[in-house]
Amino acid sequence: MENETTDFIRQRIESDLAENALDQGVITRFPPEPNGFLHIGHAKSICLNFGVAQEYGGETYLRFDDTNPVKESNEYVESIQRDVAWLGFQWKTITHASDYFEQIYSYAEALMRDGKAYVCSLDAEQIRATRGTLTQPGENSPYRDRTVDENLDLFRRMRAGEFSDGTHVARLKIDMASPNLNMRDPVIYRIRHASHQRTGDDWCVYPMYDFTHGICDAIEHISHSLCTLEFADHRPLYDWVLENINMNYHPPQIEFSRLGLEYTVMSKRLLHRLVDEHLVTGWDDPRMPTIAGLRRRGVPASAIREFCQRIGVTKQDNVIEMNLLDFCIRQELESSVPRGMAVLNPLKVVITNYEGSETLEGPWHAQNQDLGRRQLPFGAEIFIEHDDFANEPPPKWKRLSPGEMVRLRYAYIIRCDEVIEDDSGNVVQLNCTYFADSKSGQDTSGLKPKGVVHWVDASAGVPITVLDYGRLFNVPNPSSKTFLDDINPNSLTRLDAMAEPALLAHESRRFQFERQGYFYRDEQADGGAPVFNKTVSLREGF
Ligand code: ATP
Ligand code: MG
Repeated sequence: MENETTDFIRQRIESDLAENALDQGVITRFPPEPNGFLHIGHAKSICLNFGVAQEYGGETYLRFDDTNPVKESNEYVESIQRDVAWLGFQWKTITHASDYFEQIYSYAEALMRDGKAYVCSLDAEQIRATRGTLTQPGENSPYRDRTVDENLDLFRRMRAGEFSDGTHVARLKIDMASPNLNMRDPVIYRIRHASHQRTGDDWCVYPMYDFTHGICDAIEHISHSLCTLEFADHRPLYDWVLENINMNYHPPQIEFSRLGLEYTVMSKRLLHRLVDEHLVTGWDDPRMPTIAGLRRRGVPASAIREFCQRIGVTKQDNVIEMNLLDFCIRQELESSVPRGMAVLNPLKVVITNYEGSETLEGPWHAQNQDLGRRQLPFGAEIFIEHDDFANEPPPKWKRLSPGEMVRLRYAYIIRCDEVIEDDSGNVVQLNCTYFADSKSGQDTSGLKPKGVVHWVDASAGVPITVLDYGRLFNVPNPSSKTFLDDINPNSLTRLDAMAEPALLAHESRRFQFERQGYFYRDEQADGGAPVFNKTVSLREGF
């Protein structure tokens, strides 16, 4: 294997394998709740769960943790499948916590028969109030000593729909004085008269995550149940449930750090608010840290996998710099995508001594000849980048300025003779001369301009819209309470640009625009000019 240092999870798996401790091999699961789109934090968990199974010849379940019908929907189920597949992973089968509702329910009844669970008729507020604190024990519920018969009768009537939401819950009978609050008679079932996207109206009681998760893991014979660090405090409960039900397999829960990324938020709850309050255009807005957003921005799946490998798996929560993701994206795209010319902020150049037109040529990638060549129409009027001209050039200026020369990429050397300004002094046109004997590849002019700039022929060029995305937030670590105040109001810049025609005819949707960055053609263009999303600039920006 290529990684010389393996992480603690892979070490654990290797030692389990060495000891023949896994009777069915490595089996993992990725268990999203279908209550939103997946984000790059989920990608870390996906790469880990699917990655280790792949590496050790095992399999991975894609399991929808669909225990909360109110927040879940099919749209999310479908987006999750699309995103996992797009990331390049194949699941063994798709399962749902709801596939096991009957079995989970029967374990709850069994625990009641064993005197280890009871129906509690306190309301949510009372349960909270009697739970105690980190320094004070909780109080026993007055319903804790209901008889087995009474509990079973009430629980069955809960299931039968006799009671309204919130009137009763089922709780485990563990220890109201436990130093771990999760062990203070946790609720395992609540009444919710809500239609479920898979089970319809079959159920009006739904199991809680902590009760459900371990049971599903055991049913699927998961060899390593990998979850994020915040579940470490829930592990005793996970273990308690599996030890106290009649199940002869008990998977180990192993926690790893959550991924945080600078200048964004990563919880579905907060991402929901950005979508619902129309602060972004949707879950797949290219500014979102969602897989769908990254995909639409043009980030290749391989860059996300590479990123997840580089950040590694540790026991320490960390916030990663956006620059690392950008680095991985550039690295993936550098030699593989065609490089064309587009002028983002066009300045007209008239070549006063050029007549007619011709077709020049250049490679799609100077170092990767496999990408082939394209034709470049050239004529007396072209556009160059506004930024490539300076009326009063700073020291060491290598681009165009009055009286100076520059080479047009794959074309001729030009010299700026005249600068035309509008009434307010803005430069609106340059009049230049070209040198006929300076054509790229057959240059006999002996001229040595300092710089090379990109350009687009004015008559053959195609207008495009470029969407340049900045950071969604102004601060590196937006807090969940104030994140709406920290939104960057200038996170989207719309540019009316010009592209060389071959770019639009090319089958690739992904390009480097020379000297600018990587761009991805958006499929959802609205009938106007073709839209290109900026994936990442060529160099570390900001
Ligand atoms: P969120 O708070 O964003 O809703 P979640 O943990 O509630 O996240 P789930 O759908 O329950 O979302 O997550 C599915 C899996 O992805 C879980 O195993 C969870 O631990 C993992 N996961 C979620 N967010 C991250 C993250 N930022 N880094 C690593 N793993 C994550
Ligand atoms: Mg969750």
